[in-house]
Amino acid sequence: MKNMKKIIAIIAAIAVICAVFVACSGKKTDEKSNANSANNASVSEKADEEATGGKLVMATNAEFPPYEFHEGDSIVGIDAEIAAAIAEKLGMELQIEDVSFDSIIPGVQAKKYDMGMAGMTVNEDRLKDVDFSDSYATGVQVVIVKEGSDIATVDDVAGKKIGVQTSTTGDIYATDDFGDENITRYDNGAVAVQALISGKVDCVIIDNEPAKSYVAANEGLKILDTEYVEEQYAICFNKENTELKDKVNGALKELIADGTVQKIVDKYINAD
Ligand code: GLN
Repeated sequence: MKNMKKIIAIIAAIAVICAVFVACSGKKTDEKSNANSANNASVSEKADEEATGGKLVMATNAEFPPYEFHEGDSIVGIDAEIAAAIAEKLGMELQIEDVSFDSIIPGVQAKKYDMGMAGMTVNEDRLKDVDFSDSYATGVQVVIVKEGSDIATVDDVAGKKIGVQTSTTGDIYATDDFGDENITRYDNGAVAVQALISGKVDCVIIDNEPAKSYVAANEGLKILDTEYVEEQYAICFNKENTELKDKVNGALKELIADGTVQKIVDKYINAD
């Protein structure tokens, strides 16, 4: 009888130990699998799964007012607001990454970002590397000069020192038309405009809306009446991520049709 009790006690003890062990190892397994899935999520092809919800990582270069610029700690502007409206429609959380303009397309190709939105012009070369959404805005390349400059039309730019933002269409066209030796490349439009003010270059070729804001912010500059090139802005995607591109196009179509895009543009451009 005594022995029997002992045996029962031992069995009970073993059972408790087993139960605790199973519970603990179960927990461990859960934690491990959670950690694994988190790891997998970060290394997996983010862009593909994010088309089904979750985060929408947008790369931009927030030195391009009024499309994207810093206001306090936030990045605001036409692109930022259109992207937010798109993300909302798709039930996704927008995350904006501020990077140099020339690293947007490589980052989208590497699936570091889900999309690039930066007043980015659709052109043949870029179409080889990425896909573009439908266009949501028109841009025009213009020439900024100092007031009193002897450059009166685009033709007068020939032989002058030209400032551009690296890798932009302004850079590409000006290099083609006026020769690499006449081009000085800057990280962003604001720096190029400072170079114009200090006399390092004779003009700056850049998109019309940023040009307007630079001219408004600095005395003694003007934009030539003659326009250089007209182009279309669109959002770029990894070529493999047609699912996200299609969803964004669907959202964009609705936002254009219901006047949201126009409202955002008016807020930043036409209001004044
Ligand atoms: N529209 C120009 C381009 O795509 C400039 C864009 C920009 O500087 N953000 O090259």
